[in-house]
Amino acid sequence: MNKSNFECVSFPLLWRGVGVRLKYNLNFYAIELILQVKNLFYFMLQLPIYLDNNATTKMDNRVLDAMIPYFMERYGNAASRTHSFGWQAEEAVEYAREQAAQLISAEPKEIIFTSGATESDNLALKGVFEMYATKGSHIITAVTEHKAVLDSCAHIEKLGGEITYLKVNKDGLIDLNELENEIKPETILIAIMYANNEIGVIQPIHEISIIAKKHGILFFTDATQVVGKIPVDVNKDGIDLMAFSAHKLYGPKGVGALYVRRKNPRVKITAQMDGGRHEKGMRSGTLNVPGIVGFGKACELCKNEMNKESEQIKKLRDKLELELLKLENVFVNGSITHRLPNTSNLSFKYTDSESLMLGFNKDIAVSSGSACTSATLEPSYVLKAIGLDDDLAKTSIRFGLSRFTTEEEINYAIQRIGVTVSKIREMNSVGK
Ligand code: PLP
Repeated sequence: MNKSNFECVSFPLLWRGVGVRLKYNLNFYAIELILQVKNLFYFMLQLPIYLDNNATTKMDNRVLDAMIPYFMERYGNAASRTHSFGWQAEEAVEYAREQAAQLISAEPKEIIFTSGATESDNLALKGVFEMYATKGSHIITAVTEHKAVLDSCAHIEKLGGEITYLKVNKDGLIDLNELENEIKPETILIAIMYANNEIGVIQPIHEISIIAKKHGILFFTDATQVVGKIPVDVNKDGIDLMAFSAHKLYGPKGVGALYVRRKNPRVKITAQMDGGRHEKGMRSGTLNVPGIVGFGKACELCKNEMNKESEQIKKLRDKLELELLKLENVFVNGSITHRLPNTSNLSFKYTDSESLMLGFNKDIAVSSGSACTSATLEPSYVLKAIGLDDDLAKTSIRFGLSRFTTEEEINYAIQRIGVTVSKIREMNSVGK
């Protein structure tokens, strides 16, 4: 640089230039570093990430620890009355019954162990239909119920029963006036789920129970998605029968319960299986002792940890939802105020479920619609019931978080889904 050129650039200006360049470089390196550290985190993440906890939950280690002895040295049949193996198994079952009862503020005698919520739903609906046949044969339910309820109702219709299917509004909620208007002298049961498995929407359970009481009708609720996530009190809620399941609350698969009220009123049901008259004659069959022990332990853990845990889960769910909503043309399905803390069902307009799944389902496990219906490519009947057209319903994804979901996993999901959605939209617009 010759002297005249040098003189053109004053010293303070030169110094500022160096400063800006240095700052720019530092910023560049800082961003690089942050990205690398972020990638390192993602590298350390164990993929795939599980966000399908409404389908089933991972079993808690503490539950497994409680179960193991009942597969091995304590293998007795809980119905064997003549020796210590049987007594030991029976004692464990009764302890689990107390644990399950405590979680829902019931009496232990009101808990009937079953193979899961599907069986509990069948037993409640068919059991009441048969037991109260002389009083009437009309049941009121809703179009968004789980298939275990809807198919039991269809079976009852074939047997001559009459079923009223209530519609829901765009939030997924039933209309209480409509419910009351549908009641007639032959109505024996109202069967409305506590919260929906696809959209997580919570029905006005207490208000439904008041209507049921006013008309002297029994109230059954499928609370499979609720028990263990938020407090449930069968007395405060006015519930007469209630289904729930161990594998939705960090317990084992293949075990669940039906709550059957014993006082005010004393509810009776007709058993649907004939045999050894186990479970006070309501459900025959040798008890799944390890499963029941695990179910009891899972209930105890939820009772102790649910409140704090739900706050944390809700925080992560809200973060996931808020960040994905920033992608625009993303819609939350169902009510956002009357909803489970772990569930978010979103529609990603201008995409399609197949491309979404192809885009990330190796690394992120979610469900497109109900777990039970995702084998077919039919749009979800729940999403259609809340007013989504077929195209939008087919772009929906259900996220279900759990006590094991971490912030790093949510950050990864936000980033990965964001990239996938943008890519699909870009490709779709190029194709046009
Ligand atoms: N009811 C609801 C609301 C559910 O979400 C499920 C499971 O997806 C069931 C019933 C069936 O439960 P299980 O798998 O214990 O039979």
